[in-house]
This record gives sequence, C-alpha cells and structure tokens, in this order.
Amino acid sequence: MTAASPTIARAVDSPRRDLRDLTLDELEQLAAAAGERSYRGRQVAHWLHQKGARSFDAMRDLPSPLRAYLSERFTLAIPAVARVSRSADGTRKLLLRLGDGAEIETVIIPADGRTTLCMSSQAGCAMGCEFCATARMGLHRNLTAAEMLGQIIAARGELTAGDALTNFVFMGMGEPLANYPMLIRTLTIMTSAWGMAISPRRITVSTVGLVPMMARLAAEIPVNLAVSLHATTNSLRDRLAPVNRRYPLEQLLDACRRLPLRRRSRITFEYVMLAGVNDSPANARRLAKLLGPVRAKVNLIFFNPFEGTALGTSPRESVEAFQAILRKGNLTATIRESRGLDIAAACGQLYAEDHPGA
Ligand code: SAH
Repeated sequence: MTAASPTIARAVDSPRRDLRDLTLDELEQLAAAAGERSYRGRQVAHWLHQKGARSFDAMRDLPSPLRAYLSERFTLAIPAVARVSRSADGTRKLLLRLGDGAEIETVIIPADGRTTLCMSSQAGCAMGCEFCATARMGLHRNLTAAEMLGQIIAARGELTAGDALTNFVFMGMGEPLANYPMLIRTLTIMTSAWGMAISPRRITVSTVGLVPMMARLAAEIPVNLAVSLHATTNSLRDRLAPVNRRYPLEQLLDACRRLPLRRRSRITFEYVMLAGVNDSPANARRLAKLLGPVRAKVNLIFFNPFEGTALGTSPRESVEAFQAILRKGNLTATIRESRGLDIAAACGQLYAEDHPGA
C-alpha cells in the first residue's frame, strides 16, 4: 500500500476538494491508500466522468469500504441549476449555484447540427474589458476543475434524450488562462480516455491574450485557441482590453506566430464590432496587415449591449464591409450571429449577480 501523495493529502485537508478534481493517477493513489487495488481508481474515474455519478452510493460496483473512504474525504457536488432561461433561437442559459453560493452561467447553443456548450472558467473576471458585462462583476474567484466539469454534467442533464453536447468553448465568464492550473486539470479530464474522452479538436479556449500562458497551453494540450483581439492599435486595445498594457499587440501577435499549431489548424481572432470605435475600413485594413503573418481566421462578433454601457453595435452593413476587406486581404473571416440575445445569454452578457434587470 502506498502512502497518499502530497497532492492527495492536501486534497483531504481542503474542505472544498471534490473527487471530480482528481486525475487518474491521483485516483489510483487514493485507491491504494484506501487499501484497494489501483484499478479501482479507473473504475471511479469511469463513474465520475463517463457516467456522471451524482453520489458515492451511485458507484455500485465499488466495495463499500472504498465508497465510505472516499465519501469521508471528498465532496461529490454538481452545480445546482438555479435557473434556466430559454431563448427563442433554442439557446439555453443555465444559472448554476456552486457549493459556496457563488453563481456562474453556462450556455447551451444548438446550431447547424452541433450543440456547443459555452463554459465559464471563473466566477466573474478580473480582466476589465470595457465591452464585457462580466467584467463589471470583478473577480469573485477561480473555478475548480470539478466546477468546470460540473457545467458539462449539469448541461447534459438539461438536454432532451438523444441530444448530446458536441463542442465546448471556454468563452463564458472569466479568463481561462488566468486560472491555468485548474484549466489544465479540466482539459486533461475532458480529453483523456479515462475521463470524458472528448477530442481536443472539439474544445476551444478563448483568451484575452495572456501571452506566456498561451504558449504553455499550446505545448500541453492541442485544443483550439481563440484570441480576443478587438483592436488594431495599442492605444485602442489598452482601453478596450486593459491587459494589453501588459502584453501589447506586437508581443501578442509574435506569440501567436510562434505557437505550435496542429497541421492545417489556425488561431481564431475574435473581434467585437463597436460602432464608431473599431469598425472602420481603416481598421479592417490594419487588421488584415497585422494578421498577414499569422495562421489566422477572424470571427467578427456583433457587440451585444448590456445595461449601463455607452458602446453601440455596428450596423450590419459596416460588419459586412469590414468582412469584405479582410477577405480581399486573403483572410478567412466569418460573422458570428448573436445567439440568445433575448435572454442575455449572448457573448459578453453573462452576469450572474443579482442586479436590476437580471
Ligand atoms: N476571457 C476570455 C473568454 C471570455 S469572453 C476572452 O477574453 O476571450 C468570450 C468572448 O466574448 C470574447 O471574444 C469576448 O471578446 C466576447 N465578448 C465579450 N463581451 C462581449 C459583448 N458585449 N458583445 C460581444 N462579444 C463580447
């Protein structure tokens, strides 16, 4: 019998550690520490991630002393669905309540034969982007891996029979790369054969541009990367996405050029179209030039307004003209139609605190 690793020991001490936070190695060590054969660890992983077990007792083929050992040391919590809002376009927004009362949102988006889950990585966000409602909450805290995975389990519980989540995007609340260790843990569990066995090609991590973490992520797990760019000059990007002061455009684009990408894959650059701010033809031409040396595609996003913002949505003609200039510059550019606008589930509208109009 091996002693529990330091990680496990810490896990046991922490009142908040959830069994779903653990990797296969850790589950196997735990089984050994409980006096069981290590294959029991794999069995536990199967219950947690394939079957979405909601209780220790649900893991029926585990010896009951092992179930007791686990339940004394770990929680096994799935975020509670506090509210479901349904959009006329089929988008569903789930307000989830976590163990400590923190609330986050996760959005189910059916479109074109796919069902995408837009996941949160933090409760709130510290990045302070001017055009984003979540920024106004400030950062409450990082989510644990179990809380990120719990969004998938909670969302699966809302699907009708025969429906399945096909794609996963970390584009909900929070900056995923600011919660790096937990993000890697989550992605490891999502993509491993012993975990959820989801192909990394079906997963996209969206970042405001935390340069050092982008390189680390690309080296660790080959998920798709999206970068929220939104501006073609440092002065404007400093204002819209203040993290630009730390990692200015040159540094960000240089990092993007060097990222090890899968064959034929490209980085998605998100660009939210703000009327009179960043949507002129001159901006489009600069963007085409900036992205010329990068394996890039551009996703133009209609700005989704929220209460209290002075920013406005670009008219469709401007967005289409912008797209045409990018295409002439040989860039792939798509326009992202807003989904779930009527239930404030669209990009940048996630805001989970009680507030007027919520
Ligand atoms: N922090 C990460 C992920 C969350 S934001 C990031 O910055 O990428 C996910 C996407 O929603 C980003 O591209 C962001 O720019 C966009 N977004 C934020 N607020 C928006 C709004 N009000 N309207 C449209 N898109 C918005």
